[in-house]
Amino acid sequence: MHLKATAFILLFTASALFVKAQNQRSSDKIAVTAKQMIDVRSGKEIPNVVILIEKNKITAVGSNLKIPDSVQIIALGDVTLLPGLIDAHTHLLHQYYTKYGDDNSNRLLEMVQLGPAKRALLGVKLARGMLEAGFTTVRDLGNSSINADIALRDAINNGDVIGPRMFVSTRALAPVGGQFQSVTPEAQQLLNQEYAQVSGAEEARKAVRQAIYDGADCIKVIVNSGSRRLSPEEMKVIVEEAKRANLPVAAHATDGDGPAMIAAEAGVSSIEHAYTISETVLNIMAKKNIFLVPTDVLGVTKYQDRIKRALKAGVRVAIGSDIYYEFPGKTRGQVCAGMYKTYVAAGMTNLEVLRAATLNPADLIGNSSIGVLEVGRFADIIAVKGNPMTDIAVLEGVVFVMKDGKVYKQ
Ligand SMILES: [Zn+2]
Repeated sequence: MHLKATAFILLFTASALFVKAQNQRSSDKIAVTAKQMIDVRSGKEIPNVVILIEKNKITAVGSNLKIPDSVQIIALGDVTLLPGLIDAHTHLLHQYYTKYGDDNSNRLLEMVQLGPAKRALLGVKLARGMLEAGFTTVRDLGNSSINADIALRDAINNGDVIGPRMFVSTRALAPVGGQFQSVTPEAQQLLNQEYAQVSGAEEARKAVRQAIYDGADCIKVIVNSGSRRLSPEEMKVIVEEAKRANLPVAAHATDGDGPAMIAAEAGVSSIEHAYTISETVLNIMAKKNIFLVPTDVLGVTKYQDRIKRALKAGVRVAIGSDIYYEFPGKTRGQVCAGMYKTYVAAGMTNLEVLRAATLNPADLIGNSSIGVLEVGRFADIIAVKGNPMTDIAVLEGVVFVMKDGKVYKQ
C-alpha cells in the first residue's frame, strides 16, 4: 500500500512535470502567419509570411517557411504584418483638456493639481491605449512631473502594467521658467516639478548628471521658450555629458533658425518640431546624422514643405505625435495612429512614412532590437487589414498586437 502510494505520487509528479514542460515548450515557440508582411528596410512585400518566434525574439522570417511540430501557430489570415509602431515623441503622463482653456491654463492646473502619483496613474491608462493601437515602443519626452515616467517605464518592464516599451527623459532641461509664461514669485517654486531649469553651463551639466542618476534613457532639452533661450555653451555641455553616458539628446527648437542652429552645432541626436527650419540647418543635420522629429497636425499646411526639404537634404525623419490633448471617446493611441496621413499629405511616400514610424525612431533611440522584423530582433509585431503601402490610413485599424513575444490584442 505504502509502496503503491509512493509509486503513484512519483508517476503523478512525473506526468505533471511533463505537462508543464509541454506547455512551456508550446508557449516558448510561436509561429505567426499572414497573407503578407512589409519589410520596412527593403520595402518589399513578403507574401505568405511566416515569422518564427522563440521566447521574445524572432528566429526566422520568410515566405512559406516550414513550421516545426510543437510550435503554437497564430494564423492571422488576410492581414499585413508590420513591426510595432514607434512614437518618437510622446507625453504619456501629460493630458490637457479643452474645457480648461489653452495650453497655458492647462499647464498651470496640471502642475498644481497632479503630483507624480496621479501623473503615473494617468500614464497607466494612456500607455495601455498606445499599445492596443499598435505602438509597441515610445520615446517619452518630459512633462511627467518628477520621475513619474521612470516609475511607469519600470512598472511596464516588470509586467505590472500593460504598455509599450518606454524610453524616457525624466524632466526636460529648460531655460528659467521652463515653458510657463509669467507666474508669481511664489508659484515659481513649483516650476521645478515640471522642468529642470538651468542657468549656466555648470547647472546644465548638473541637470544632465541628475537625469542620468534618476534613470533617464535620453535627455530632453527645451532650447527656446518665447524669448528665453539656452546658450551655445549650455547646449554643448548638455550634449557632452549625455554622450558620455551614451544617451541621445532630443532638442525642442522652434521660432526661426536660431535655436535649431544652436542644437545642431552642439550635436544633438534629434531636433523636435523645427517648424521654420532652413536649408542651412537641415544640411548640418544631414551631415551630423541628426534626426528631424516633426510633430505635425493634419490640415496644418503652413510648415508642410519642410518635410520634403528635410528628405531632399538627406535628413532622416522619425515621426512623433506630441499629442497631449484629450479627444473624448478615443484613446491616446487611437488619436496618435491618425498622424501618419499628415505625412503622406506632406509628400512622403508610404514607405518613407512606414520607415519614419519604425526603423528610423529605433535608430534614433539607439536600440538595435526593435524597428524591423528581422532575425534576432524582439517579436514586436502588429497586423493591419489592407496594405499600408497603398493606404496609410490602415494603420488606424491595428487588429493584432504582439510585444516582446506576448499577444496583447487579437
Ligand atoms: Zn512635446
